[in-house]
Parts: sequence; C-alpha cells; structure tokens
Amino acid sequence: MTSAFSEIAGPALLEKMEDRYRSIPVEAIVKQDILRLGLRFEEAALQTSFKQKDYFIFTFDHMPITDQPEEMRFRIPEEIKIQGGAFALKPTVISVRVDTRSPYMVRMTPDGARIFLEDTDLGSVEFPPIPAWYRHRTADGKFPGEIAPVIEWGYLIYLTVFRNCQYFGKEEECAFCDINHNYRQQKQAGRPYTGVKSLEEILEALAWIDQEDTTARAYTITGGSILTSLREKKETDFYLHYAEGIEKKFPGKWIGKIVTQAWEKEELVRFKDAGIQIYHPNYEVWDKNLFSLLCPGKESFIGRENWIRRIVGAAEVFGPGNVIPNFVGGVELSRPHGFLTVQEAVNSTAEGLDFFMSHGIVPRFTAWCPEPYTTLGSQSGPPLEYFCELLTVWKAAFEKYRLPVPPGYGEPGAGRAVFSVSAFMDVIGYEGR
Ligand code: SF4
Repeated sequence: MTSAFSEIAGPALLEKMEDRYRSIPVEAIVKQDILRLGLRFEEAALQTSFKQKDYFIFTFDHMPITDQPEEMRFRIPEEIKIQGGAFALKPTVISVRVDTRSPYMVRMTPDGARIFLEDTDLGSVEFPPIPAWYRHRTADGKFPGEIAPVIEWGYLIYLTVFRNCQYFGKEEECAFCDINHNYRQQKQAGRPYTGVKSLEEILEALAWIDQEDTTARAYTITGGSILTSLREKKETDFYLHYAEGIEKKFPGKWIGKIVTQAWEKEELVRFKDAGIQIYHPNYEVWDKNLFSLLCPGKESFIGRENWIRRIVGAAEVFGPGNVIPNFVGGVELSRPHGFLTVQEAVNSTAEGLDFFMSHGIVPRFTAWCPEPYTTLGSQSGPPLEYFCELLTVWKAAFEKYRLPVPPGYGEPGAGRAVFSVSAFMDVIGYEGR
C-alpha cells in the first residue's frame, strides 16, 4: 500500500523506522502503523469469545459498517494485544480500526491467533476478556457494553452520555469527527444505541462494576457539544449532573474525567467540586488556519484564542498536570487544507506542544482515523514517518519540561501501556537504543 507520501508499507518500512527513530520503542512504531493502516481478520481467528468493539463514541473504522464483510461486522474485538514476532514486541495494546485493504491481518495458526504484516509474523494476538459484569442487563434491558463500555483493556469506563453533537453538518462539525455518522450507522444497523443515557442507567451499570470489577480505574464522561440545551439543561449543567450523580453514589471510587468543550473557570470549579479530577478540553489541531477550517463550529461559537485561554485557565482549577487536551495526530496533513510536508506538520504541532507543556499542561494525541462519512472523508492517512517524528518531539518536550506521567491512563512504558488509540503512553520512560 502506497501513501500520498510515497512510503511503501511493509516490514522493510518498520525496520527503516526502527533504525532511524531510536528514542522511541519499536512497540510504539508498530502500534502507530497498525492504527494508521487499520486491521482485518481471518474469519477463523474470530471463532472465540472476547469483548467485542462497543463503538463507544466514534466508529474508528476506515470503511462504512455496511461495507464490512459479514464475518467481521460487529464481530471484531475492541482491541488486540500483540507480543513477540519478528520485532520481539513486548505486550502492546492496540485499538481495532477495520480496513479490509490493510496489509495487517490477524490469522488463526496452529499456535493460535497471530498478526501478520504481509507474510511477516509480528507475534501472538490476545483478545480482550469479557468483563464478568457484562452478563447483566439494566432494568430497561440494555447491555452494559452500550451503557458503560470499558476500553483500554478494561482500565477505562467510557460514558458517552450524549451520542450526538449539536455542531451539525459541514459548516459546523469538526471535519474529522464521525460522532453523528456513527450514531446513524448504529441505528440503521438496528443496534441498541441510546442517544442520551440516563443517569439512572449509568449508576445501575456502575454498581455492577463497583461490586464485581477489579480492572477499571477511571471513567470518562463525554459526548457531543450542546449549543442550545439538552433535556432543558445548558451544556455545563447537562454534563455536571452526571458527574455529581456518580461521585455522590461512588465518591472517589474511580478517577473521574470529562472530555468536553473548553469552558470558563467558574464552570470548571463546579466539576472540580463535584469530584472530577481530569479535564480534556481537546484543541484538536494547533495551526490557527487549520483550526478554523477543521473545527468550524468551535471556531465560530468559541474561537481558537478563547479555547486556548480556557485551557490555560483550567490549569488553575485542576492543576496543570490534570489538564490533558487532546489533538488529532495527523489531521494537519489532511487534504485539501493540510500541510504538504511532514516537517511542516510536525513543526506546527511541536509549537503547540511546547506552548502547553511550558505551562505544565500535558497534551496527548489520538491517531487521526479517516472515517468515510466525515467531512474529510476517506483518504490515505499520514505516513508512518509523521507518527515517528510526532512521538519523538512529544517525548522530547515532555522530558524537557520534566512533566509528570499523565494520570488516568494506567502505567506508562512499552509492555505496560493500555492507552490504545496512540502510542504516547508507550514512549514514556524509554531510554533509547
Ligand atoms: S465538537 Fe467536534 S469533535 Fe466534538 S463531538 Fe462535536 S463535531 Fe465531534
């Protein structure tokens, strides 16, 4: 497979990147490559029991759900954990993004499920276990994986309480986001998929976790932006009532996080007082011009300067290490508006990293997933070189400012990290080779 950057995917590319980028572990390089190219499965490899992909907020797939082959549609694991193989990988947890064109394939072998890049064996594949409490149903008959799915190998309870966004259509929606399109696809497929979850059903599911689970350590409250009101509540009141309800019933049981728009300090104090510890006001892309083009709703309703000011202000409320804004790694290279070279893209993002990290704030990134129904649509993602450069500059800035390991992500380092949609946690502490 050839990207727009004339980089040919395959084992030789992994070897080249391993040789060139020596300050990041090879596990991080392989992980980013699988995330950017997606993954396919041989039917025989799926004939076992595992926690399936719950579509917890977006599709994170490279192809429409209806175009996925029947043996894979709604039958794939949330994540895989790979180990060993040609690069002697330590256990590495990777989110599954379906792409039937991917050179990465999980196949069944006499030694169990293994992942191959073309014909190169990259190691054993483990699928996530089904939490015991997934056997329950809510009073309304809903599945735990719909109401309170876990990701990151069971570490994070992901509560998308509002599965749509009131930024709607090309003029408002973030150009890389398929939250509204994911919702539509799930409903069209006839899946149970609650648009607005009630606090009561969430508390019901959390009670099972409280009683039976020993893996989950954090929860995230999130959902789309609310421009007017929802259930007669303004945006902050809507999200606050979940935070208050959860922390009232299970005070301090898990690390509470919110992923929402950037809000003013007066609003954030209410979340802090409720028991929320970590705030993710995602800035998505650093470049001023790209922010306005790729996040048109955020630009017109809040504005980039306000957004950045509010992120810095949030550090006064939660403490800088507990403000962890996300950016969509690689979207700076998207067509038609993005940078034309890897170096320009990384230089721009590095400027943002340095700005936030100099304030003690630790941005994280997810790997951009070009989902078909987004404004940006299907297109080849960034080359692997971009992600290797990005991880290198992220790690260098993180070390330069001697920042603490971001809380709420589990253990850092190759072989231990569970954050599955980028390798930023995998590179922490790596001493090079
Ligand atoms: S604000 Fe943007 S990224 Fe967030 S849910 Fe809405 S469209 Fe998606």
